[in-house]
Amino acid sequence: MRLSQADTLLRTVFGYSDFRGHQSEIINHVIQGGDCLVLMPTGGGKSLCYQIPAILREGVGIVVSPLIALMQNQVEQLKQRGVRVAYLSSLLSQSEIEAVEQDLQANHYDLLYVAPERLLAPRFLALLQKIKLSLFAVDEVHCISQWGHDFRPEYVQLSILQKRFPQVPRIGLTASADMKTRREIIEKLDLHGARVFITSFDRPNIRYRVVNKTNERLQLLDFIKSEHPHDAGIVYCLTRRKVEDVAFWLSSKGVAALPYHAGLSAQVRRNHQHQFLSDKGKVIVATIAFGLGIDKPDIRFVAHLDLPKSIEGYYQETGRAGRDGLPADAWMAYKFGDAVRLQRLIECSNGQTAVKQVAMEKLDALLAFCEAVTCRRIRLLNYFGEHVPEVVCGNCDLCLDPPQVWDGTVAAQKALSCVYRAGQDSNLDHWIDVLCGNYTEQVKRWGHDKISTFGIGKELNEKDWRKVFQQLMALGYLTSDHDEVRSRQRLTPASRTILRGEKTLYLRAK
Ligand code: ADP
Ligand code: ZN
Repeated sequence: MRLSQADTLLRTVFGYSDFRGHQSEIINHVIQGGDCLVLMPTGGGKSLCYQIPAILREGVGIVVSPLIALMQNQVEQLKQRGVRVAYLSSLLSQSEIEAVEQDLQANHYDLLYVAPERLLAPRFLALLQKIKLSLFAVDEVHCISQWGHDFRPEYVQLSILQKRFPQVPRIGLTASADMKTRREIIEKLDLHGARVFITSFDRPNIRYRVVNKTNERLQLLDFIKSEHPHDAGIVYCLTRRKVEDVAFWLSSKGVAALPYHAGLSAQVRRNHQHQFLSDKGKVIVATIAFGLGIDKPDIRFVAHLDLPKSIEGYYQETGRAGRDGLPADAWMAYKFGDAVRLQRLIECSNGQTAVKQVAMEKLDALLAFCEAVTCRRIRLLNYFGEHVPEVVCGNCDLCLDPPQVWDGTVAAQKALSCVYRAGQDSNLDHWIDVLCGNYTEQVKRWGHDKISTFGIGKELNEKDWRKVFQQLMALGYLTSDHDEVRSRQRLTPASRTILRGEKTLYLRAK
């Protein structure tokens, strides 16, 4: 009986005829008062999973969301649909806040959106204890995890919800949670008995492709002109400056491109976003400031001229392509040197060591994705904890056009033992000199012409050795420390499997 109420709501209030994926199961579970963790890709339809139960259950549903701008947007849309809803955030004046709080006590709402710091204010918690609550929905719940790519300290304190309101069901929702993050969410939000609903992260209509960056602008232009001449797309760049340069340059080449970044005035940003959403075939060149809450179904490509910070970031950004289910491209221009630059930036930043460590590991995982020699989709899905059989997906560059690989096991063993023998205290150029048997000043000064790995790598030239080292680093068999003046490579626990000959390693030939 209850589900049919949910069905009716879906039609009358939201205007949709059917639930998607796990929506109906989740809604049913929450209506009955169950806790759950919902993992669903962006655009999958997470909101309905708490909106409908909040409307149907007695009391008000509290939605915690870190994204104030999105909150406002969602609330406006819900109001237009006749839902009794409000939000509390720093965007409201004191008197507006008081008005909402009064209405809340008078039982005026089905749903209330709040920023976490506001929810956790003692006065507000006390107020909540006086009224009937239908549920807590914690959106973007991965922010609770230090391991998550978007950690927010105020989220950690949400663990008091279980203690203060043990009777009220809790729903955590996120589009990105690898296994470690997932465990931390369950721990911190005390979701031990909760059901976990996982919707596949696969986006079969998106074709993943990573190209070797040689001339990024020309490569991008060629990609757009030959594959998406009249399509809407997003081009992500790391810096504001680059966003402007690339947008300007694309325009000069006849592509309808507009820049978007946080340094532009609000009016310009609104205008460009509006054009992108309403016109056909506009390309937006943007920093990652662009995209949150963008619900445009027919974005045909997402291009990256710079590395995203993590696989989560990459997945979220590329996930904006092809929401309509029609073919779309995720295209990235990548070169190893960019990763080294990012590593330096992380190491030289002022963050805590643990935070840097996480950022480093995230970047390493992304690098392994870029340097992969087999199916990218499988790499992505595995990262999010989905285990799929190792078959070709048929819709990524590596499946469509498998790269030439060679058995690099022996070369890798030579490279790794060279680093090890020589004390793990120098940089690539030096290792390569030792392997190739070059009598450089440094080799002689350090006596490295006397060690057993001197000159054992003459079968490859210096350029090839550089590629071997880069792949070893990208695949996690070597790690680097950087400071302002130099970088040093060290072995990792994984290197041992190679040194002991327990693993065959295929490397890219090109
Ligand atoms: P998420 O929070 O998972 O990114 P949203 O809840 O914002 O996704 O939903 C994404 C889009 O899909 C919205 O435009 C939403 O209205 C739409 N949507 C959600 N559920 C359904 C459904 N059952 N049928 C059709 N459209 C839906
Ligand atoms: Zn594939």
